[in-house]
Amino acid sequence: MSLDPEVVRKDFPIFETRMRGKRLVYLDSANTSQKPRQVIERIVEFYEHENANIHRAVYELAERSTAAYEGARAKCAHFIAAPSPRSIVFTRGTTESINLVRYSWARANVREGDEVLVTEMEHHSNLVPWQLLTQESGATLRHLPVTDDGMLRMDLLGDYITDKTKLVCVGLMSNVLGTINPVRQLADAIHAMGGLILVDAAQAAPHMPVDVSELDADFLAFSSHKMCGPTGAGVLYGRERLLEEMPPFHGGGEMIREVFADHSTWNEIPHKFEAGTMNIAQAVGLGAAVDYLHSLGMDSVRAHEMELTAYALERLNAVGAEVHGPSDVDQRGGAISFNVADVHPHDLATIVDQEGVCIRAGHHCAQPLMRRLGVPATARASLYIYNTREDVDVLMGALEQAKGWFA
Ligand code: PMP
Repeated sequence: MSLDPEVVRKDFPIFETRMRGKRLVYLDSANTSQKPRQVIERIVEFYEHENANIHRAVYELAERSTAAYEGARAKCAHFIAAPSPRSIVFTRGTTESINLVRYSWARANVREGDEVLVTEMEHHSNLVPWQLLTQESGATLRHLPVTDDGMLRMDLLGDYITDKTKLVCVGLMSNVLGTINPVRQLADAIHAMGGLILVDAAQAAPHMPVDVSELDADFLAFSSHKMCGPTGAGVLYGRERLLEEMPPFHGGGEMIREVFADHSTWNEIPHKFEAGTMNIAQAVGLGAAVDYLHSLGMDSVRAHEMELTAYALERLNAVGAEVHGPSDVDQRGGAISFNVADVHPHDLATIVDQEGVCIRAGHHCAQPLMRRLGVPATARASLYIYNTREDVDVLMGALEQAKGWFA
């Protein structure tokens, strides 16, 4: 089933908004996606008909809210082909999911002399927590280099994954380069050394089928707001065996089994990691976003984005933009970073905004990668299910104008 972005657009009320009287051309979905009516309405329905705190009360309304929340967990498990909803922990998003692993698993397992491996293309969310962890524990943080065309230096794996490596932290799809990384190969390499792999799927989960067993991921994180869901929700997938062994992250209500004056015992997983009142409506909204993406089909989502990415790359090359990252759409997603000679990315973003075009400019929370690319910042257009060739054409017209201003 192929995806028609003009039909998809009709599900997104925001596209009825005009920007300076012009069509809204939203090319910043890697930052956050727009929300379909189906998700917005599900959240309203929850507040109008099901709202109560979860897991705590015996009355019918609380049973409804608990069913909605736990139903969303089951949908998320299915979405990434996780063996059981018990392996799905709700968080605020990818950043919190990664920090959960840092505070819980890594603090208990990473010691002085051990190594944690990240890559040169990680988002700050999958870098800074590991800087903090290694500084605190005396472990060493290493960075797998990136080639000039934005791929991981897999030829160096033998040097970077050794019996000292306890954890590999890697993005499945780069938010800057669009690169889809060979996560399964990294998983096999680290598992052979007895270590674990954490996969940052913030950019992958919204755009391609993700299967935790195929990836052989030990942990995998993603955010609701980048995949048509609301802000304030996200997922940490963890192998059940690991989650069972791990100490809690936050302490408080709900995560306990029994509390005594001086100590407590812990609830079963995943509740052990969900302290206090969670973002219930947001989790329910994430469940609706999963339903929405399933109705389109993740294979169709990926196919549409590959086709549109190929078109955008061709047009960007034709206007003389310097595009970062792989040129083969089999190896990349639709987050496209580029520079246009002599025009600062911030100026570019401001000029195209006059045409109703939203693109991001800056370091994209990947400052070490900017240094590696030798640029202070890039412009980034990122594509999603509701983008069309017309959107790309409007961007190109605006870029031509910007070039004209600085000629
Ligand atoms: N990792 C990647 C690759 C991302 O693109 C982002 C968001 N830009 C994050 C992590 C952080 O996600 P969040 O802000 O939703 O926690």
